[in-house]
This record gives sequence, structure tokens and C-alpha cells, in this order.
Amino acid sequence: MPVTATPIPCLSDNTAWLLRDTASGEVALCDPPEVAPFLAALEQRAGGRCDWIFLTHHHGDHVAGAEELARRTGARILGNAADASRLPRLDLALRPGDATPMGGRMLDTPGHTRGHVSYWFADGAVLLCGDVLFAYGCGRFIEGTAEEMFSSFRRFDALPGNALVCCGHEYTEANLRFCRSLRPEDPVLAEAAARVAALRAAGRPSVPTTLWEERRANPFLRAATPAELLRLREAKNAFRG
Ligand code: ZN
Ligand code: FE
Repeated sequence: MPVTATPIPCLSDNTAWLLRDTASGEVALCDPPEVAPFLAALEQRAGGRCDWIFLTHHHGDHVAGAEELARRTGARILGNAADASRLPRLDLALRPGDATPMGGRMLDTPGHTRGHVSYWFADGAVLLCGDVLFAYGCGRFIEGTAEEMFSSFRRFDALPGNALVCCGHEYTEANLRFCRSLRPEDPVLAEAAARVAALRAAGRPSVPTTLWEERRANPFLRAATPAELLRLREAKNAFRG
């Protein structure tokens, strides 16, 4: 039975995720950087239950709430064994390729950090991709190279178009401004910008999008070579829109 994912806005522009396995009843969070909004969300949506905390990478804006939330709820923390030394204390240290609780799989997706991983739940089509792939954008290459980011994107090629891109930040409006600077006449981008503007004006998250939409409109995911991806990332870094 499927896993469902609900975005939980936090900090100034982060998006963490609340997952529910509708068959087993298990509940998880992904990348909680603080505590209070997650206790409230768990209370409201899951009767206070939290079984697991999935971590994509070690940055504080993704992990800072994990240990206290684990203490308060009894959740167990899981992440990439290769990065255990700089993640919160892991109760379950997995390797890319391993099966995860709630029917998922850990995917090796370096590029933003060396140890960055994503999680794919085929039943429910939920992709937790942290700071690697964003809606209409991609993460900065903080420790990684364009080659690594490019190879991480290729791992997503195997996933179906209906995969929900559950990313780690609410950067969608700024990302779309950059996309539209590249392709000002593209009606797909104009439509996306109007849809996202309406959601944000209503105080709602713009995510998730789908891999189908990203394959159609995300220039970073569409880059044909690592060199093209690097050129795009550098142009985005310099973009003031
Ligand atoms: Zn990060
Ligand atoms: Fe981040």
C-alpha cells in the first residue's frame, strides 16, 4: 500500500516531509531542521506517532531537529552509513541500494555533498531528493562536481514520470525566474509560473512537482552533459532576477 508525502514548511525556505505508510500505519519525517513545527504536524496528522526520521545529507538545515524529535517521539534516525560521522546519531546506517523501512530504497546521489542520498518509495511514487534536485532547479555543488550531480540525475532516469519530486527547499519561484530568463517564450514555463504564484499567494507549498514536469521543464535535469550542467549552475549562481 502506498506511502504518501506531505510537505512541512520550516525555517525560512526549507521543506521537510511527513510520510505515512497507509498499509502499516508507520509515520516518518524527512530532514527536520527544527522541532516545534514537526511535533505540531505529527500531532495533527498522525496522532503524534513518528517511527522514522530519514536524512538526506548532513547540513544543519536538514538535520538540526532530528535528535530531539527522536527523543520526544521514539523515532529512529536513518541515513547514509558513509556519512555517519557527521550526521546525527544514526539508529539505522544504510548503504545506497539498501531497502529502507516503509518499502523504500536509498539512492546514491552525490553532487551537493559527498554523502547525499535520496529515497525512492515505488509504491506511492515518492522521491525524497533533498538538495540535489529542486522544482525547476538543482542544488549547489558544495562538495561535489558537475559530473557527480549529472550522474545523480541519471539515477532518476530509471524512475517513472509520476514520481513526486519531494525536494528540500521552497526555491521554486526563484528557479522559475531563472528558467524563464533562458526561455522567455516557453508557454510551459509561463504556465508553471502562474500556477506556482497562485499557490504561494495562497500560502501553500509549490512542491511536490513530478519527474514528468521536471523532465519537460527543468534545464538542469535536461542538461545533456556535465559541462552543460556546470555552465547552467554557474549562470544560476550569477543570476539576479
Ligand atoms: Zn544542503
Ligand atoms: Fe538545504
